[in-house]
Formats: sequence, structure tokens, C-alpha cells
Amino acid sequence: MIYTNISINFIEEIIQEDINKGFPKKKLRFRFPPEPNGYLHIGHAKSICLNFGLAKKYKAFVNLRFDDTNPTKEENIYVNAIKNDIQWLGFIWDKECYASDCFEKLYKWAFQFIKEGKAYIDEQPQDIILKQRKTPFEPGIDSPYRTRPVRESLVLFKKMKDGKFEEGEGVLRAKINMKSANMNLRDPIMFRILKVIHQKTKNKWDVYPIYDWAHGQSDFIEKISHSLCSLEFENHRPLYEWYLKNIKKKERSKQIEFARLNISDTIMSKRKLYIVIKDGFVEDWDDPRLSSLRGLRRKGYTPESIRDFCHRIGISKRDNVINLKLLESSIREQLNKIAIRVMVVLNPLKLVIENYPEDKIEWFPAENNQESQKSGKRKIPLSKKLYIEREDFLEKATKTFHRLSIGKEVRLKNAYIIKGTGFLKESTGNIIEISAVYDTKSQSGSESSRRKIKCTLHWVDAIQTLDIETRQYELLFSLEVPDAKKYFLRFFNHHSLKIVHGYGEPFLRKVRPGEFFQFQRIGYFCVDQKSSSIIFNRTVILRQSHL
Ligand code: ATP
Ligand code: MG
Repeated sequence: MIYTNISINFIEEIIQEDINKGFPKKKLRFRFPPEPNGYLHIGHAKSICLNFGLAKKYKAFVNLRFDDTNPTKEENIYVNAIKNDIQWLGFIWDKECYASDCFEKLYKWAFQFIKEGKAYIDEQPQDIILKQRKTPFEPGIDSPYRTRPVRESLVLFKKMKDGKFEEGEGVLRAKINMKSANMNLRDPIMFRILKVIHQKTKNKWDVYPIYDWAHGQSDFIEKISHSLCSLEFENHRPLYEWYLKNIKKKERSKQIEFARLNISDTIMSKRKLYIVIKDGFVEDWDDPRLSSLRGLRRKGYTPESIRDFCHRIGISKRDNVINLKLLESSIREQLNKIAIRVMVVLNPLKLVIENYPEDKIEWFPAENNQESQKSGKRKIPLSKKLYIEREDFLEKATKTFHRLSIGKEVRLKNAYIIKGTGFLKESTGNIIEISAVYDTKSQSGSESSRRKIKCTLHWVDAIQTLDIETRQYELLFSLEVPDAKKYFLRFFNHHSLKIVHGYGEPFLRKVRPGEFFQFQRIGYFCVDQKSSSIIFNRTVILRQSHL
């Protein structure tokens, strides 16, 4: 079943409780805050479905906020791609915001912090600052600049903003507590110098806020009521609270953390995705082997199936790894309802029907999808020669082999019952052709065809046929949780893409990019949207794939 609603989860319980305690429903506001430094992946989809799902449920606003605080890695192309992917997933945001919309305010508040002795300019190199912060098990060391006069920091901060310093020559740090057990409170950096062009503000700024300094304030400015973050931000929360307390803002959003989505057999961290793309292990962000939304989409995943998956996994507070099979079952269930069933032979073996007239061609009606009346019927040609799958023939049947063999009957799907009569073998032992006879009165659906036959085979006529190319994707790594391993590339499966040619019904001549099919007894396939020729990407195998 395809679910479209987000069910009750612990976050919703908290929101409901807030409402019960008097929080006005009309003040509910959510946001999805991507950094425009890459394409979205299925992990982001979890956060999107959560935030947009809640907004939909409570008829609340939801902002799309680009966290564009690191211009060295961010690009406009990602902004557009992210918007496009969210729309594709089926969601619409109320307001498009940018952390950079708040740069002016963040600068002013920082200036105020310096004036109040809550921030200072540190001129030490980054690596020294890092060393002085020590570890959670020992207190950090104060910077020699920590006690410098306020006036000095004010002048330097202004100079930094006006481009008078080079990168790395100074940072603005909050003066909190170098001995705090929470490392985030050990005088975190608020602003650093970056001499780069920002994708939105261009060359207006020479100083840029650190994500942590921008995030909570963006939530505050946008009046986000519930700020939903992944677990790693749990111990950033005291810092966000410290910042807001010190800019003297009472109304704050409630931050709630939830577990990130991890899926087995795949990588999701953008850093790792970059590596496999940049080093040429895969084609690009839309390579169907990736867990990026573009990759999944090209592979044949629908927005409904991804929303359904996000619903099924739910929202939890504890990290876990979801089995890839769950994602596959979501798409399989949907494709079962919408994909047109066709016959394709991928490992062909020629079959000649001895008693079938030489020049005769018959066209048999076939249902496009028995699960959906609307999908209609089409016609399939049959002549004297056809192809079946090599795996569907054995010279001598065994007890467990119910497919075609000499003396044994099978039904050709939508057509006749045939009986194996012989085969042609090369000197190498390779069978190159088989022969059979057909029962002239056994046409599918006819009165006289009631004979029970154990096995039905798919097949493709050898004359009225279409050469087709399929791309079959295997797992990218020979490791169950590659995302958890630093040296994940060692486990890269260099045979994860198989190009397999075969024969298909003539019906497939008219397919459109993005169209879904079930190749009977083989799997679900989707017409590639990028190639100029017709290529079928394997979305997922059938639950009990025969081949
Ligand atoms: P990555 O680690 O892949 O680079 P990120 O967190 O840096 O991801 P962002 O663009 O900052 O990527 O993420 C935007 C939002 O999506 C954040 O709120 C983040 O918590 C959420 N998000 C990212 N990855 C996941 C995931 N695997 N599961 C759930 N939410 C995620
Ligand atoms: Mg991030």
C-alpha cells in the first residue's frame, strides 16, 4: 500500500503537546535547510518528508532555506537542482530563504557581542586554535587574544569586513567557556575571512558566518516554531541557545533532533558521493547506482515510492541502518500497480515450432497490467520462430525443473501450449536451437485451452522483434554499511553495471523516456531519460525473479 501521510511519530507528539499546552496552531512553522553544495539524496528526502509532511498536516508554513554560509563549496546550480528535486518529490515551499539574507543582521549582532565583551578577534592560525580547544576530557587553553580590549576587536572586525585582511589572518570567536565539557562552547568561531565570490551575495562580503552562528538565528528570524535537526546537532543546541539568549531574543524555535537515515549497501554522505563521482567510479550525480534523488529517479523510482519509504521507516531518536530491501519493496509495490507487463528475452535461445505454417503471423491480445483495468491491452505477434530464455530449457527435465524439455509441455504466455521435440547442438556442447510442436487448439483464453499446464514461459517472436539494451545495476559495494567505513572505496564493486542486450516485443518500439515496464519474470525497468537511444534501466528485480 502506498502511504501519503506521515503517521504519528515522537516529533508530532511533541508538537501536539505544545498545541495542547496553548501554542497557537497558526504559529507553527517548519523549514528544510539544505546546503547548496551538492544534490539531494534519499537521506534528505527523510527530512523533507518530515518537515513538509508536518506542514501539510497542520496547514502550516514551511520554508526552504539554503544554508549558504560556505561559498567555497556552494553553487547556484545546486540551488536550482535542490528546488527541482523537492518539487519532483511532490512538495511546495511557502518561502525561499537564504542564510545569506541574514548576513547583515549576523554582522550587526556580532558587532554587538564584541561591544558587550562576548566576542573577540583571534589572530592565531586555525590549527593553533584547534589545538587549544583540546579534547572533551581536558580543559581547553585560552587564546592570548581572549582578553584583548573591546575597542581593538571592534576595529579589527570592521577591517576584516572591509577586506583589509587576508584569509586566515583572523577570526571572530564567541567568548563562552574554554573549559566547557561541550566542545561547541569552547569559544566557537562566528566569522571567518573568505575571499571568494558567493553564489548569491557575489563579492559583497569578505567575512562569512560559520554555520553554527547562522543557523539558530535564521530559525529565529524566519520564526520557525519547530526546528528539526539530525542527531549530530544535539550538542550544538546549548550553543544556539547561548547565542539567542545573548542577542536577547525570547521567542525561540524548539529544536528537536532525530536520527539520520542510513541505508545498507549504499553511500549517502555528500563527501563520499563526491569522491565516487569525481574519481570516475560512477557517471555523475544521476548515476542510477547512487542514492541521490536524481540517481533513484533515473533508475525508475517514483516520488510516491520514496514518500512511502520515508513513511515506513518513521522517525526515531536512535541511529540505525535500514535495509535497502525496504526501499526496493516500496518501489516494487508501486510499479506492480502501474508498470505495463511486457515480454523481453535477455538470454535468448531460438525455438522453431515445427508444425507452425512458414509464413503465418498471429497476433494475440495481452493485458497491459492485470492489476489495473485502465491500462488496456495490446497485441503480440507469433510466427514459426521465436526466442525463449536459455535458462527455460533443459535437454532432460529433472524432478524440480518444470520448464521446457524434450517431451514436456509448457504454455507460451498469451499464446499456445508447446511440447519440446529436439535441439541442435554445436560441437562445444552449446545448444543453438530447439524445436517444439504446438497444440493448435490451445490458444490462451479459448474454450479448448483449459488444459492445466504447470509452467508458462515468456517469449518473443524472432521476426517481429526489437533489439533492446538493458542496464542492470548491482550493489556498489561489497560491504554492508559502506557509509560507516573510511576506506569504503576498497570495497567498490567494479562490476556493478552490466549492460545486457536482448529481444523485446515490437510494442516497445514506441516507449517514452521515464516510462515504466515490468519485463515478465525478470524485473521492473524504466526507460532511461538521458540517453538518445532507448535504454532500459533495471529499477528492481521481481520479488522472486526467475532469471
Ligand atoms: P551530508 O552529510 O550528506 O553532507 P548534510 O547534513 O551536510 O548531509 P545538508 O544539505 O546540510 O546536508 O542537509 C540538509 C538537511 O537534511 C539537514 O537538516 C540535515 O539534517 C538533513 N539530512 C541530511 N542527511 C540526512 C540523512 N541521512 N537523514 C536525515 N536527514 C538528513
Ligand atoms: Mg550540513
